[in-house]
Amino acid sequence: MPTVLITGAAGFLGSHLSDRFIAEGFRVIGMDNLLTGSMDNIAHLMPLKEFEFYYHDVSKFVHVPGDLDYILHFASPASPIDYLKMPIQTLKVGSLGTHNLLGLAKAKQARMLIASTSEVYGDPLEHPQQENYWGNVNPVGPRGVYDEAKRFQEAMTMAYHTFHGLETRIVRIFNTYGPRMRLNDGRVLPAFFSQAIRGQGLTVFGDGSQTRSFCYVDDLVEGIYRLLMSDYAHPVNIGNQDETTIMQFAEEIMELVGNPDAHLDRRPLPTDDPKVRQPDITLAKKLLGWSPKVSREEGLRRTLPYFREAVAKADANKK
Ligand code: NAD
Ligand code: UDP
Repeated sequence: MPTVLITGAAGFLGSHLSDRFIAEGFRVIGMDNLLTGSMDNIAHLMPLKEFEFYYHDVSKFVHVPGDLDYILHFASPASPIDYLKMPIQTLKVGSLGTHNLLGLAKAKQARMLIASTSEVYGDPLEHPQQENYWGNVNPVGPRGVYDEAKRFQEAMTMAYHTFHGLETRIVRIFNTYGPRMRLNDGRVLPAFFSQAIRGQGLTVFGDGSQTRSFCYVDDLVEGIYRLLMSDYAHPVNIGNQDETTIMQFAEEIMELVGNPDAHLDRRPLPTDDPKVRQPDITLAKKLLGWSPKVSREEGLRRTLPYFREAVAKADANKK
């Protein structure tokens, strides 16, 4: 049975990846320090003999006994409010954490995939973004702690590939959504869903003309699985090309949720908020035969029940 170590396993993407690898017949070791994740996301996996959980901060030396075939490094605060609150942990998990895991991969002769991000392109001057675009990042702005950690992570991973011959994969993930996102993580979709369900104002930052391209989690997981099994060591964009303005997104969510009290509540645009973002996925299509299958309409429909339940639980706990 091949074994995969998934860091950030108690988080949104790490838990969905754990499900997928279990379903593919892998033994999964999930590692997490619960900084932004929750055991609720993996409670259903805990009884399985194929799943093991290690509570550990990967920025500290990482030890795993026995053989490892693959490592997927997904541990990191991922939402702007999380990495603004935890700038040092964010820098450490992208740098020291990545170094520790690359060392582990080398010792075990495992193949390592890292979760990079569209944020390496910063506030992009090229649109859509191709993998060969070097980006427009402010290293000392508030988002710099995340963007530069991820850029360093890519450089470090490529160095282990080039100098140690380690098998490595780099996925540049564009905005992804689905069940198990944290209700109050501040990302736009949990914010809009919870506000619409509660009949509150949807906090549109700026004039809402900035764009994002949202990918449903199952499509992302499929792309990552295919990339891991491919033989391509350079970065690959995985995301949905269907671009929308944030204002349009707010309107779609209000319409889907159908609470007549929901309305728009305009707020200032955060510093260095990228104005546009859309992946060029030509490479993923060619290399992996991958393209997203779930439309935004369908993905939002599939995600809504999770948020209705999460809001109901959170509101019941407040009483
Ligand atoms: P998340 O916050 O839900 O999950 C991150 C997990 O990492 C959490 O469970 C957290 O507790 C854990 N973690 C953080 N620091 C750790 C440490 N030092 N040691 C061990 N565990 C630690 O976020 P997510 O959306 O699932 O993102 C997962 C990864 O994917 C991140 O690396 C993120 O940068 C990347 N990514 C996500 C998106 C997206 O749209 N969701 C986009 C681009 C990149
Ligand atoms: N955004 C918003 N209202 C919110 C949260 C986010 O208008 O309550 C905007 C944010 O300014 C950005 C976009 O939605 O332009 C996506 O933000 P998110 O934090 O989800 O991720 P980002 O792509 O910026 O990392």
